[in-house]
Amino acid sequence: MTFELLSVGTELLLGSIVNTNAQYLSRRLSELGFNVYYTTVVGDNPDRLKSALEIAAGRADAVITTGGLGPTVDDLTKETIAEYCGLKCVMDEESKERIINRFHKGNSYMPENNFKQAEMPEGCIILKNENGTAPGAIVEGEDCIFIMLPGPPSEMKPMFDNSVIPYLEKYSDGVIRSKSLLVFGYGESAVDEMLGDLMNNSKNPTVAPYAKTGQVELRITAKADTVQEAKEMLKPMEEKIISILGDKVYGRGIDNSMENVVVQLLRDKKLKVTCAESCTGGMVAEKITSVPGASECFDCGYVTYSNEQKTELLGVSAETLKSVGAVSEETALEMSKGALEKSGADIAVSITGIAGPEGGTDEKPVGLVYISVCTEDFHKAYKFNLTGERGMVRERAALYALDLIRR
Ligand code: ATP
Ligand code: MG
Repeated sequence: MTFELLSVGTELLLGSIVNTNAQYLSRRLSELGFNVYYTTVVGDNPDRLKSALEIAAGRADAVITTGGLGPTVDDLTKETIAEYCGLKCVMDEESKERIINRFHKGNSYMPENNFKQAEMPEGCIILKNENGTAPGAIVEGEDCIFIMLPGPPSEMKPMFDNSVIPYLEKYSDGVIRSKSLLVFGYGESAVDEMLGDLMNNSKNPTVAPYAKTGQVELRITAKADTVQEAKEMLKPMEEKIISILGDKVYGRGIDNSMENVVVQLLRDKKLKVTCAESCTGGMVAEKITSVPGASECFDCGYVTYSNEQKTELLGVSAETLKSVGAVSEETALEMSKGALEKSGADIAVSITGIAGPEGGTDEKPVGLVYISVCTEDFHKAYKFNLTGERGMVRERAALYALDLIRR
C-alpha cells in the first residue's frame, strides 16, 4: 500500500509554520512498514487543492491530508475531497453534539459556522477529535482512500495514533503496537551511539529516536499476528534499552512529560517540594503546577532574581554573594536550604545560572548553571554547562532541576 501526504495550508507555503505534521506522519508510516512516495504542500485555494488531490489520488493507494477541517471559509479539504468522490456533505448529529458540548464545557460562545465542522462526506468513517472540535474522516474512494486529519499537531497526532493506525491494520499483515520510552540527560547522538546496533539492525520490533527539547523519545514498534504477541515483543526490547540507558529513562508513553513523572512520584511518596529559582524565573514552579493534582505536592515556590531578594527571602548570606557571586555552588546550596526551611516542604530545589546571551565571563560562561537539592538529610549542588540560546538554557535548567527531584 502506498501513501501520499497532502499538507494543506497557506501558512506552510509562506514559511510561517514548519510542516511538522508531514514529518510526524512520514516517520510513523515508515515505522509501520508503509511507503510514502510523495509529500505535497498546497495552500488554502480550492482550485489548486483540487488539482493536487487529483494528482495524489492518481498515484497513491491512500492520501492523508492535514489541515483545512476548521470552521472558516478557507477550510476546504473535506468539501474538495467530497466533490472529487462525488459525495455530498451531510450533518453528522453525533459530531454536532460533540462540538456543542465542547463549547458548553469551555463556557464559550459558539459561532454558528462551527457546525460546518460536523458536515461530513456521506458514508465516511468519522474520526473523533478528543482534543479539538473538527472531526477527521476517512473516505474509501474507488481507487484511493482519503484520510483527513486536522491541522493542529496536538489534534492530528492522537487522532492518527488512536484512530488511523487501528484502521490501517487491515491493510498491513498483522497488528502494530508501539511504546515510547522517554530519555533525559543524553542527547540524540549519545543515545544513538549507545543503542547503536539495537537501532540499526532491529527490524521487528524497530527502535526509532525522536528528539524533543533536551530530551529523546524512543519509540519501539512491533508487528505481529495478535495484539498479545506484539505486546510481548515490545517488552524484551524495552528491558534491553533500559539496561543500557539506566535511569536516564524517566518515563513511558508519549504524553508522559518530566513534570508528570515528578508530580506522580511525589504524590505517591506523599512528599512536598518547593523551588527557589533565579535564572529560570519560575519555570520549575510553572511546570509542576501545570500537572493536575500538583496541589498535593506543591505549596509555594520562590523567584529570587536579584541578590537582595536571595538574601531577603531565602537568607542567602550577603557575604557569600559578595565573595563567590550569585552563580555559584555556595549560593545554590544556601538557596535550597533557605527554601526548605522557609516553606516546610520535604524537598527543595534551587537554580542559579547565567542564561545569556550577555553576562558571561571566561570564568563563568553563559550556560553555567548550579542546581541544588536539599532535604532533611541530603544537601548537594550540581554544576552544569548548558549549551544553546537563552530559552534553551532556561528550559534545560528547569528540566534538570525536575530530573534531580525525581532521583
Ligand atoms: P482549525 O480548526 O484550527 O482551523 P484546521 O484543521 O482547519 O484547524 P488549519 O487551519 O489548516 O487546520 O491549521 C490550523 C493550525 O494548525 C495552523 O495555524 C498551524 O498552527 C497548525 N498546522 C496546520 N498544518 C500544519 C502542519 N502541516 N504542520 C504543523 N502545524 C500545522
Ligand atoms: Mg483552519
